[in-house]
Parts: sequence; structure tokens; C-alpha cells
Amino acid sequence: MTDNRGDILRLLYEIKEAGASFYKTPEKLLNKIAKLQAHQGDTLMGFVASALESDQPDTRLLDKIIAELNIMAQSMIIKGEIKPVSVSELPGIGKKATEALAKAHIETIEDIIYHLPYRYEYIGESRSGKKALTGIFQSGAIVTTRNRKRMYKAVFTSDFGMFAAVWFRFSAGYPASALKEGKKYTLYGQSGSFSGMESIIHPQFMSESEMGKIIPVYSIPKIVAQKTYIGAVNAALDKYLTDIPDYLPARLEEQYKFPTAKAALLEIHRPKNPYELEMLTERRHPAAMRFIYEELFYLQMGLLYKKRSYERQAGTSLDIKKEYLDWIKGLLPFKFTNAQRRVMVDIFNDMSATGQMNRLIQGDVGSGKTIVAFTAGLVAVKNGYQVAVIAPTEVLARQHMENLIKLLQGTDITSALLTGSMTPAEKRRTKEIIAAGHVDFVVGTHAVIQETADFNKLGLAIIDEQHRFGVEQRKSLIEKGYMPDILLMTATPIPRTLALSFYGDLDISVIDELPPGRTPIKTSSVERIEKVYKLMREEIAKGHGIYIIYPLIENSEKLDLKAATDEHRKLSEVFGVENVGLLHGRMKQEQKSQLMDGFKAGKLQILVSTTVIEVGVDVPQATVMIIENSERFGLSQLHQLRGRVGRSDRQSYCILVSGEHISEEANERINAMCQHADGFKLSEIDLEMRGPGDFFGTRQSGLPEFRFSNIVRDVRVLQNAREDASAILTDDPELSHSKNTVIKEVLIRKWRKELQYIEIG
Ligand code: ADP
Ligand code: MG
Repeated sequence: MTDNRGDILRLLYEIKEAGASFYKTPEKLLNKIAKLQAHQGDTLMGFVASALESDQPDTRLLDKIIAELNIMAQSMIIKGEIKPVSVSELPGIGKKATEALAKAHIETIEDIIYHLPYRYEYIGESRSGKKALTGIFQSGAIVTTRNRKRMYKAVFTSDFGMFAAVWFRFSAGYPASALKEGKKYTLYGQSGSFSGMESIIHPQFMSESEMGKIIPVYSIPKIVAQKTYIGAVNAALDKYLTDIPDYLPARLEEQYKFPTAKAALLEIHRPKNPYELEMLTERRHPAAMRFIYEELFYLQMGLLYKKRSYERQAGTSLDIKKEYLDWIKGLLPFKFTNAQRRVMVDIFNDMSATGQMNRLIQGDVGSGKTIVAFTAGLVAVKNGYQVAVIAPTEVLARQHMENLIKLLQGTDITSALLTGSMTPAEKRRTKEIIAAGHVDFVVGTHAVIQETADFNKLGLAIIDEQHRFGVEQRKSLIEKGYMPDILLMTATPIPRTLALSFYGDLDISVIDELPPGRTPIKTSSVERIEKVYKLMREEIAKGHGIYIIYPLIENSEKLDLKAATDEHRKLSEVFGVENVGLLHGRMKQEQKSQLMDGFKAGKLQILVSTTVIEVGVDVPQATVMIIENSERFGLSQLHQLRGRVGRSDRQSYCILVSGEHISEEANERINAMCQHADGFKLSEIDLEMRGPGDFFGTRQSGLPEFRFSNIVRDVRVLQNAREDASAILTDDPELSHSKNTVIKEVLIRKWRKELQYIEIG
């Protein structure tokens, strides 16, 4: 890209001069912007093209164009940038190796330099019990130990006496043929003792000059030899290290006593001191901490910058009158818990402030998040605004709708459901009344609201969150030109460190208390469902409902469905065909709703279901949750499923059915479920077991990828980074002081896509 920053800056200046007239008659300037096309990115051109299409372009679109120009004007190249050179330029890295490394995301010189060793080999005595000995080979033979193991044993003499080397894996050729009587060898391996003689077990042959060396070990594809790779790393360091930029401002480096980026990389790739290896491996060495801090600092910087710009964005300012609240209290059959009250105070503070609310409500399953969100909705409606309630699935959307209808009974507040299974005519009619402002609460699924809804006066969006769906949803509402307050609810609780990393651009409130009168759910694990038939009979006799869930894994969907169908047949024979229903993903929405209604009304007492999410519903008389093949579910899913029972004062049960031969991890998950009822505790266990990368299932776009940090291990650094970032932004909100220039440039580069709708001033 040629550098036409001058042109961009001139244009921005002209726009500024034009002032309001740019918004009234933008054509002239838009055409100039269009002339930049040859050099510029798609995003800007897309905006300009659609602005030029209409006589009266939307001012928000024009704002976006200006924001985009702003970013372009500022993304100047940071001094000392590494050029994007392919690893194939390095010695020893041929075509095959290049391809294999690319699969491991090591493609450029920069990638190779920042791909740190995961451990080191020290050739010499070390704490790991490895040892090197030099001696003259005397003789070797196959011997049998007392516990009848065969090994090859070689005896050496050295200046310090005799020692032995033993191999448990040996062949006719090795190691015997590698050893010549009377020759001197240096052997390196685990030290031990055999028949009273000092020994080395399974040694490697070394040359004497290699002694005392530290060799880094990298996690790389097998087809690339470590030796070759190390050679490539060294070549990259020799040639390109001087180009490595320092992304951290010097004052932060000093504050934490971090080495510079260049010095740190040398220490990590070519450590000098054996006693530092442990710290390096555990990433507690300042050289490693430096990059962890840098990564987390810019993550928090970006998140906080976004958060602050939401706060600045003109939103609605609502009137929270006491009479509204008294009226709402009158609609509810219960009193709010203290935790719910605390969270509502947070929400009301946001809603009455002029900025835009962006708040995440965290809480365990059944902690009463939904009703808190609906209360916020009622306040918005009382202020004359519309409220969107957005759910990840149609069943959940219906569920919200039913709850709303109950809540709104006897009031003059209106609501409408908008889902994919409506006929086009129904949809059109509903959309019309929504656009005309005749509907207060609009309930629907993500997809439908995204593609169809036009609101008259949208003031609040309540988004049932599922793994950052809600964040996307927020973006799409803004793209459509709405600036509502946003309230996200998490489906299951997530640990604080994860929340800070993934939702650090939002305010977070936690409901850490369950409504009173809940009887703890009894959780146990069994090998076969037959073992709980007795319990099932007793519960059915009491008029209670039972869920039986089957996992549905894509590649074995057919088998899973068959298993559920077989089970349905078997249970129908045992419990009576009229009592057992089967719900699965291939059914029509209408059939599904019918079955759910039957289950809710108590006509069906056993519901066999294949699809997890379809049962995210509230059926208070359901008391038994049986999960088949529970070893195949993740912890948060298991907990979420368990939350479907225990919704009344009746004793509830969760039965985890699993085969005998399950992995150790699956076993740990099941044990954790039996031991803990608290969703936050379980989510921490989950995070520890799986690591942050896999916590949300698949790696989804929008989640930060960490090169250096592990937010379980690096909690402290994360907190420091957030505090530092916050202090810098408080002191210099626009990052306009010269001491913050580096921060601003890195921020723009790293977060360019994410920040595209935010003007960096
Ligand atoms: P969540 O959305 O957090 O999973 P819900 O809002 O669905 O939880 O609440 C679960 C159940 O508890 C609902 O039936 C709801 O009416 C009820 N509930 C919520 N708050 C209270 C409360 N303070 N006291 C008693 N019951 C409550
Ligand atoms: Mg809920």
C-alpha cells in the first residue's frame, strides 16, 4: 500500500471544515474519498459506495467513514517493524517444513522469533537427575535383573572409578555396535544405580564439547527436526533481532524491571544460566513475563478503550421513578434477593446515565437473572422505549415470551414474538406493528432479530448470551443504526479471569445468591439407567417430570439418535407409551412445541431428548435430570442441564449415567458434578482442566488468541495489566500525550478491526 496519509489527512481536514454541510451534501467529499480507492481497504470503500448510492446517506454511515479515515490516517508504521518474511528463507527450512510449520501457525520470521521454547535440555548435571559421565568403554553384555527384566549393560572406567550404562530397549545392533573397547565416550542420561554401581540409564552419546550446553526444545511439527529448527531460529535471531520493536513503553519496562524485547528474546532462546531454566520454563522469568504482560496489557488496553468509548457514546437517559419500581414489585409473586437488588442498582445507574449501558449479568443457573433483566425492560417501557429480548434458540425465545406474558398479565404492556418458523405473512405483519411502535417487548432469536427487525424506538436490548453471540448481536444492532442500552446474561457462570479477558469491555454484575426455598439437588452417577427405575417410578407417582438427555455429537448423529429412539421405545414399554415423549433436533418446531407443552402440563412425565439446548426451559415440577453418556458432555453443559431441575422446593435429582471405560478427565468431571453445586466453582474447575483455549468449546472468532499468556497461570499479571491500562486511560483518555504514542499505535494496529466503529481521537 502506498503511503497516502497526506491525502487522507487533507480529506479529514476538508470534512472538518465542511462541518454540518458534509452531512447535508456529502457527495463532493465522498467522491474524493472514492478516488482513494486504488490504495484503500474494502471496509471504507464499502461504506463510501453505499453512501454514494443514496441521495440522503445516513449520518451514522458518514460517521463510520470518518472514523475509518481517522484510523487510516493514524496507522503509521511503527519504527523497527519486522518485515513479513517467510520462514522458508531460513536455512534448512524447505518446502515440506514450511508447509508443516504453517499448519502450526509459524509462517513468518516474526512467528519464529516469538515462538518460545517450552522447555530446555541442559547437558550436564541438573536438578532433573540427569547426569553426564565420561569414561573408557570396557565391556558390555545382556543381563537379566532380579525382576526378570532384560537389559544391555556396559561398563566404563573413568578417573573417578567404574560406572555403568544400561539400556532396557536395545537391539542386535544398538548400542553394542556403537561401542568400541578402549574408546572414550561421554554419556548423558538419568542417573541411577545398578548392583551397587553408579549408572546412567538410557544415555545419549554426546561429544565433550557439548557438555554444559543448554538446548531449547520447541513445540513444532514432528517432520521438522529440532536441530534444524534451532538452526533456523538462530539464523532468524542473528539477522532480524535488531528489527524487533519494543511495544512496551520504557516506563512500564522499568516499573516491572523487564528486559527490553530484544534482550528478553535472547535470554529465552539462548539462555546462559542453567539455574534460570526452571523459571524460564514456568514462564516466571522476567524475560518471559515481559511478553505475557505486554500481551495482557494490550488486551486490557483495547477492552477498556472500547468500554470507555461505549460510555461516551450518546445513549438514552431514563427516568427511574420510585412509582415504576413499586408497580413492578406488585407484578411479582416473590421478593427480590439481596443479590438481585444489588445488580438492579448497577443497572438503574447505567440506565439513568446519559452514556450507553453495556452490562453483563453473571449468575448461576436459576439465580434469577431473567427477571432482573425484565425489570430493566419494564423501566425502559415506562420511559416510552421498546425492548428487544434476544435468545439463542427458538425454544428459549418462546420460553421468554411465556414468562413475559405471565409477568405482563393485567398490564397494558404489549409483546410480540418474532421467530424463524413464522410464515412470511405473519412475520411481515409483526414487523409492521413493531416498526410502528405498537409493541413494547419484541422477543426473538438472534438470527431473526438481526435480519428483520426494524424498531420504532429501541431503548434496551436484553441478550441471552451464549459464548459471545451477544457481543456479535450488539455489533449488528449498532450497524443497523440503533444505540440501545445493552444487557447481556450469561448462560452459565464463568470465572472472573475469563470474564475480564473476554468481557473486559463490559461492566459486569454478579448475582451470587439463589432465591430462597430451593432444596439442593442430589447428584449421583450410575452405570446403567435401570438402576434408577425405582426412583423414576416414585417420582412419577408424585406427579413429577423426568428429563433424559442424550448427547448429540455431529459425527455420530445417526447413532445418537438411534440410541435415543431405542431408549424411548424401551422406556415406553416400562413406563407406558402415553407417558414418554421423544424430542430431537430433526423434528419440526411445531412438534417440538407440542411435546414441550405436554411435558409442562404434566401430560407427559418422561421426556427423552437428544438436543441439549432445547431443554433450556423452566418446568417447575420436573425433578429428575438423567444424563446418558454423561462422559461426553463438558462440565458447563452438565451444570446447565442440571439447572433444569431443582426449580421448586421439591427434592430434585441429577443422575449421570456413564459407561465403565471412560477417560480420567471424564471421570473428574463427573466427580466434580457430584461434589459441587456452585456453578462458579465448577467453571473454575473446568477452566483449570481444559485451559483457557478450549473453555468455550471451539476457538471462535472474537476470542483473543494468546501467544504467551495463560490466564489461569497469569491471573496476577492480568490484574496488574488491567489496573495499569485503566490508570493510563484515566490520565489520558484519548492517548494524546506523546508518552502514550507507542501505546496508541500498537492499539490501533492490534485492534484495528474491532475498533473500526470507534473514533480514536
Ligand atoms: P436464570 O435466568 O438466572 O437462570 P430465572 O430468572 O429463570 O433464572 O429464575 C429461575 C426461577 O426462579 C424462575 O422461575 C423465577 O421466577 C424464579 N425466581 C427468580 N427470582 C426469584 C426470587 N427472588 N425469589 C423466588 N423466585 C425467584
Ligand atoms: Mg434463564
